[in-house]
Amino acid sequence: MTVRTRFAPAPSGSIHVGNARTALFSWLHARRHGGAFVLRIEDTDVSRVTEEAVGELMDSLRWLGLDWDEGPDVGGPHAPYRQSQRRGIYREQVERLVAAGHAYRCYCTPEELEERRKRALERGEPPGYDGRCRRLTDAERRAFEAEGRPWAVRFAMPDREWVVHDLVKGEVRWAAGSLPDFVLVRSDGSPTFLLAVAVDDLLMGITHVIRGEDLLASAPRNAAVIEALGGTPPAYAHLPLIVGPDRQPLSKRHGSTSVEAFRERGFLPEALLNYLALLGWSKDERTTFLTKEELVASFDLSRVSRNPAAFDVEKLEWMNSHYIQGLDDDELAARCMHFMTQAGLLPDPAALRRAMPLVRERMKRLTQAPELLRFLFTDDVEPNDRARELIRKAGPDYLREAADALERLPSWTAAAIQGALDELAARHGLSRTRGWQPIRAAVTASNVSPPLPESLELLGRERTVARLRAAAASL
Ligand code: GLU
Repeated sequence: MTVRTRFAPAPSGSIHVGNARTALFSWLHARRHGGAFVLRIEDTDVSRVTEEAVGELMDSLRWLGLDWDEGPDVGGPHAPYRQSQRRGIYREQVERLVAAGHAYRCYCTPEELEERRKRALERGEPPGYDGRCRRLTDAERRAFEAEGRPWAVRFAMPDREWVVHDLVKGEVRWAAGSLPDFVLVRSDGSPTFLLAVAVDDLLMGITHVIRGEDLLASAPRNAAVIEALGGTPPAYAHLPLIVGPDRQPLSKRHGSTSVEAFRERGFLPEALLNYLALLGWSKDERTTFLTKEELVASFDLSRVSRNPAAFDVEKLEWMNSHYIQGLDDDELAARCMHFMTQAGLLPDPAALRRAMPLVRERMKRLTQAPELLRFLFTDDVEPNDRARELIRKAGPDYLREAADALERLPSWTAAAIQGALDELAARHGLSRTRGWQPIRAAVTASNVSPPLPESLELLGRERTVARLRAAAASL
């Protein structure tokens, strides 16, 4: 049997990291077993889903490094892959279910349903659908039809115990009678999630449904519809919840939650991918860093945890800096370029590459590149408050002396610059830190910068000296 998994998001702009983790685990399981990974867009609620949202979703997945064998853009043997384009298929399958007695027309109005629900609650009974229309006589049914009553289609849930052998949760049981008949087609003719998911998983030959724990309660319903259609339900694996530091489900309250937001905050896709893989899964007790290829080679659903996984941004940052250290200068510079231009800087690529050794070890995120390197790529640098204070305390003579010394240097190398700056500090009886800080402030406009001599070397003699003289003149 060829493994076939799917990721079935309802796109609403960029993708939540929890859904990205679902996509990743589904993708890994397919790749691990040489199977196929299907992208299916669950846009039955058509009004809310724009082309743009679908495009953004696919863009986020591609950025993370996930690819799909079948999907709305690439097509495939089970096309279309957008539920909004599969209405005819759902109608056909529902007709089969009704004809075979597995589903029935329900004429109950929303008011009647609400009324009975309330009364059930008052009596301390479960508030789910009471099965009234399943038991209509032919005469009652004809009367409703003659009246022109709107109807929905409900699934007749077999009245027996349901057991799902979940690959993560283990055996999960639902007692007979605890799963009320549910709607497959609404009175406006639109299919529900419970219909579309079951039909698609069956017709698309999905073998493993890997998804969030919040959908566990759908599993027996999905399986029941598939069985009623004559199919064999897929295996289910429900992934543990992702929670924030307060153990509540990860949400906007906890900060960034979308893949797009992490991308814009300067995380590398390989770091985010690696981090997401460890949210509820581990290779063993020791391994933290795994490339995509290593993940594919070692992923195993049996090592998915049942416990909630805590999302820890600091750990993600730490992993990100590890991956940043692993990139060579060319690659790192190429990745930083986007953030430089976004900050209004337009560095020459070769110059940006030369600056990488200066900042690499200080960077946890790529967004730090423009912060740390701004002084190199624009002369429009306004000293921050700390820098202004350092410049003022040093005084114009000190800064001019520095400019003179640097101007006279026979060669413009980091070593020569360092020598000159140390001499200057020594002449004034200052430590290196104290002696260098005003120079740093005048040249980089900040009290923190990459290593100073190397920074000045890259900045060039002319610009360095000009900035020192301008700072002196500003006093
Ligand atoms: N469309 C559902 C969601 O976005 C997923 C359905 C499924 O995986 O079965 O949560």
